[in-house]
Amino acid sequence: MPRRPVTHGGRRVDLHAHTCFSDGAHTPEELVALALGRGLAALAVTDHDTVESLPYARAAAGVALELVPGIELSSAQQGMDLHILGYYIDPQDDGLRRRLESFRLERLERVREMAARLGALGAPVDVGEVVSLAGHGVVGRPHLAEVLVRAGHADDADDAFRRYLGSRGVAFVPRPAFRPDEAIALVHAAGGVSVLAHPGPGLVDSVVEALVTRGLRGIEAWHPQHSPATVRRYEALAERLGVLVTGGSDFHGPGRSADLGEMAVPVRVMASLKRAAGVAG
Ligand code: AMP
Ligand code: ZN
Ligand code: FE
Ligand code: FE
Repeated sequence: MPRRPVTHGGRRVDLHAHTCFSDGAHTPEELVALALGRGLAALAVTDHDTVESLPYARAAAGVALELVPGIELSSAQQGMDLHILGYYIDPQDDGLRRRLESFRLERLERVREMAARLGALGAPVDVGEVVSLAGHGVVGRPHLAEVLVRAGHADDADDAFRRYLGSRGVAFVPRPAFRPDEAIALVHAAGGVSVLAHPGPGLVDSVVEALVTRGLRGIEAWHPQHSPATVRRYEALAERLGVLVTGGSDFHGPGRSADLGEMAVPVRVMASLKRAAGVAG
């Protein structure tokens, strides 16, 4: 008999979690160990705009934990963030990998532009230092803020954002984003199932309906930022539109919003998700 996890109580799954390959605190191995410790029946690793953590998570999960390879694509339309989750994508898919690499370069270019503006404003930063601070992760404003503080150009991160990096800061450059229809198409071309992440209370139904006509196959109704009323609203909308309902904690690390496995997502979601992805089991 294989050993079962000790705390094998709730049959729950968590379909939204980040590692240090995007902006999470934990390595893929640590995340898998946490999921096992909490007795989760399945875990989806869904880093922002990268699949680099997935081979490590897969190796760590082995047969002990059911691992769903995932991604969360940063997409936006008319100033609205519409994050698109992709489940059961093939991390080796060439088209996906090429587009993620060009996206990574767009983000790097954006950091260079902000650094150039900072230099012109008398607060020069070393781009190499910014990039090395990000490590495996997605480079961005938090790393610029830290270098500004280290260089003595800002008192702390808040000050750096207020003066330079915030959306009204003098060195701000908007971040690159996928168009939602491109994000959906990328997920599908890589063999995955697309799901709208945390739509939130402010989004109007017509936006979700339009995404469904573009091929969107699910809605993340169970999310820590959703009130019970918002959860019910998206459950009902998913039913009306004939798409899946998914959920997860959007875990990034200790003390950062919800804890891993904290969103109660029923294990039956796995069967619908697998059917949609054409995955056996
Ligand atoms: P980026 O993706 O490069 O635009 O960076 C976004 C990240 O910057 C967010 O996830 C936050 O962690 C951080 N951030 C955004 N606004 C602020 C702020 N006003 N103060 C501190 N951190 C912020
Ligand atoms: Zn994140
Ligand atoms: Fe998100
Ligand atoms: Fe997320």
